[in-house]
Amino acid sequence: MEREIAKDGWSATFAPHFMSDERKTLEQRNQMTDLERLRHSAAHVLATAILRIWPEAQFAAGPPVEQGFYYDVELSHRITPEDFARIEEEMKKEIKANNVFERTVVSRAEALALAESGRLGGLSERPGNASKFKIGNLADIPEGEEISLFKNGDFLDLCAGPHVMRTGNIGAFKLTHVASAYYKGDEKNPQLQRIYGTAFKNKTQMEEYFTMVEEAKKRDHRKLGKELELFTFDEDVGPGLPLWLPNGTVLIEELEKLAKETEFAAGYDRVRTPHLARENMYLTSGHLPYYAESMFPAMELDEFKAKRAELTERRAQLHGMIIAGAKSLMVGTTIVRIHGVTSPIVGGAPKLEQVFELTDKGRAPEQLEAMVLDYKRTDEELMRLDEPDRYYLKAMNCPHHHKIFGAVPRSYRDLPLRLAEYGTCYRYEQSGELMGLMRVRSMQMNDAHIYCTEEQFEEEFRAVNEMYLKYFRIFGFEKYQMRFSTHDPAKLGQKFVDEPELWKKTEDMVRNVLIKSGINYVEVPNEAAFYGPKIDVQVWSAIGKEFTIATNQVDFAVPARFKLQYRTRDNAFETPLCIHRAPLGTHERFIGFLIEHYAGNFPLWLAPEQVSVITIGTDEPLVAYGKAIVAELRANGVRAQGDFGTDKMQGKIQQAEQRKVHTMLVLGNRDLEAGNVSVRLHGKGNVGAKKRDEAIADILSAIKERRA
Ligand SMILES: [Zn+2]
Ligand SMILES: [Zn+2]
Repeated sequence: MEREIAKDGWSATFAPHFMSDERKTLEQRNQMTDLERLRHSAAHVLATAILRIWPEAQFAAGPPVEQGFYYDVELSHRITPEDFARIEEEMKKEIKANNVFERTVVSRAEALALAESGRLGGLSERPGNASKFKIGNLADIPEGEEISLFKNGDFLDLCAGPHVMRTGNIGAFKLTHVASAYYKGDEKNPQLQRIYGTAFKNKTQMEEYFTMVEEAKKRDHRKLGKELELFTFDEDVGPGLPLWLPNGTVLIEELEKLAKETEFAAGYDRVRTPHLARENMYLTSGHLPYYAESMFPAMELDEFKAKRAELTERRAQLHGMIIAGAKSLMVGTTIVRIHGVTSPIVGGAPKLEQVFELTDKGRAPEQLEAMVLDYKRTDEELMRLDEPDRYYLKAMNCPHHHKIFGAVPRSYRDLPLRLAEYGTCYRYEQSGELMGLMRVRSMQMNDAHIYCTEEQFEEEFRAVNEMYLKYFRIFGFEKYQMRFSTHDPAKLGQKFVDEPELWKKTEDMVRNVLIKSGINYVEVPNEAAFYGPKIDVQVWSAIGKEFTIATNQVDFAVPARFKLQYRTRDNAFETPLCIHRAPLGTHERFIGFLIEHYAGNFPLWLAPEQVSVITIGTDEPLVAYGKAIVAELRANGVRAQGDFGTDKMQGKIQQAEQRKVHTMLVLGNRDLEAGNVSVRLHGKGNVGAKKRDEAIADILSAIKERRA
């Protein structure tokens, strides 16, 4: 249930706290990696350099971010990339000086005095130019938390760290761009200039990074998606709602085929569920109200809208008539007790309840009594009408699957039950955050929920990991990491569901499996989901771009909310554990990633156009030979096309290369005579002549084995 995508769409839950403008907790700071420490230290060096050029500059916050760091600065001079060389020059001097990052702890009053003198975020005191943003930052430090300052050379900053030891530890850096940002991310606050840069341990790593960035631009899935006619967006359909063109649909269907075969072999059952459900189900699951912001607003169905309006109006009319009637018929005559208070009906308006009480006691005039009866009837009729019904587009498949689990009585013999579906979900992402296929509003998820007993958990979890590894081999992901997030016992009942035994047991089991299977993983304390430990699976593309495919979660809270039970061997009832898993993530993000991973040069089994049969010339027997080959391939399920037109062979090959057709079978009269085909592979060129049968058999086996 965890949101799996970070703002830029690439990294995911990996470091979400570094993506926001919020102040980091000490805990988050302790988790900063070496590279993040180095980059954050580079932000101090950046500020030092800017101050040497513009001593009046006022600094706000300078955290590490995903690909580097920034520092927010207020300065009347507008910094542009033309200024970078100058700033970088000063940064180099500071790094060369190899100053120590010296830490001192001060009282709040001392820190405030330093800020008021302009010393914080400055190279010296700056009378009349108080460090206003540092004063604001100081106010955000909770009472009782240590207040620390860091000093490198002359630059003194309010900061909780951590840093590298010395400025000289920053091996390589580069300023990259400028953006603007509001102080503390709030548009009511002043607008600042956000200077971005990146830093690395050494020059080689930095060069590799920039090479990767360049290559990634060429492989951008939005660019290739258009060139290869894979998908499109249309304003009339709506932002973030991709339309899959025929070529992209091939990718989707091949992935589904892979998933279905794999899941079938692993004992999964397939289910299908609607794209929307009643509000009540999401209240049970807890998506409402907690996840409401990410869901499309409710659709209200009101079958009795007109009737309800009519009755509501009638009731209001009667209300008015009863009050007016009571006023004229009963003024000054009656005293009634309402809620123990005696009140005369005098010149003012009587209350409806007062009139009701009088009619109940038979003390009201007849006309009034008739109106009261009519009022009550109308009111009852109104109550009998069904309430408007609210439906939501589903943002997750889990609740639907839970309902399927609960639809029939389950016994321990049915477990583990593995329910799989390529389920379509809809999430309301802010339009500014939509990004190609990486962040969309409709998505199809390689989802499954495994319901099992505690005893079965370890084996089920191991099998899920095996499935990941199988997929990694097929797609040629050589580098991957499983990020195992665990709970913090101190936060049971607040951040984590209060099940100390289950937490310990499942975490131990997950850890065991990870260790035993030799999977590359890291353990991250205190980042689990509310209802169980989770594992984020990250892979790196062929060019080293990092990507979070999916999040697996163990869930020992939600099945109970849905009252899911199975009958045990001893005829008792127990709640199953649930594993949420989606190894191929969503089609949208996964295909977005594959496009970049393969640079659009898909392996044969995935390629939208697998084979193009090209004739040299248009001789009748040759064309007939070509047509027979295409027919044979298509009869075997191969996406083959013939190009038998009058274009020159070179032109036909060039066109097929442009469309990234995987295999070209080029036919000349000599091939025809020998029963051969000349095989050409996209990007590799001519690989020689083969017997027709052999070439076709090769193609079929490469597809069947999903060869890379
Ligand atoms: Zn710092
Ligand atoms: Zn789920």
